[in-house]
Amino acid sequence: GSDSKIVVLGKAGVGKSALVVRFLTRRFIWEYDPTLECTYKHHTTIDEESVNMEILDTAGQEWTIQREGHVRWADGFVLVYAISDRQSFEEISNIKQNLDDIKKTNSMCVLVGNKTDLCHERKVSYMEGQNVATDMSCAFYETSASEGGEEISEFFHELHREIKRR
Ligand code: GDP
Ligand code: MG
Repeated sequence: GSDSKIVVLGKAGVGKSALVVRFLTRRFIWEYDPTLECTYKHHTTIDEESVNMEILDTAGQEWTIQREGHVRWADGFVLVYAISDRQSFEEISNIKQNLDDIKKTNSMCVLVGNKTDLCHERKVSYMEGQNVATDMSCAFYETSASEGGEEISEFFHELHREIKRR
């Protein structure tokens, strides 16, 4: 088997908790305590291999000493923005820069544009997301925690594979 430690980051309200809970339970929870920061242990099978994942769902935006500890602890990161929230997208490159500074290397990430169900409120195009992901040399996914497509499992699994590869 193999292990991976994953931290989910992004602006408050983009749907980090909704995505994590959807991945773990296949359910969508509309209201999730925005201040709750929690680590989940998840046992699963990826590519016929037994896998133990630890997933930290962060809350709040401050880069505290505690958060730096979490970053050092982690093997990889899910960076989330909402396609309906331009500012959440613009914050991604700052977050990535902070991660790379703390890790002192190109940190292992996947970029996720959430809330694609809000297509009438879209403020960030697919291409813009793709371009930022290319700049950060990481995989890119658009998804909706509320609709719950296959890609939610896919990006967690893909991040695990990349962590193993390194
Ligand atoms: P977090 O602060 O990043 O953990 O965000 P939450 O998971 O608490 O979600 C913030 C709000 O966005 C909640 O009201 C959720 O119901 C809503 N939300 C999360 N994901 C989606 C989504 O894919 N589509 C829509 N329409 N709303 C979402
Ligand atoms: Mg949350």
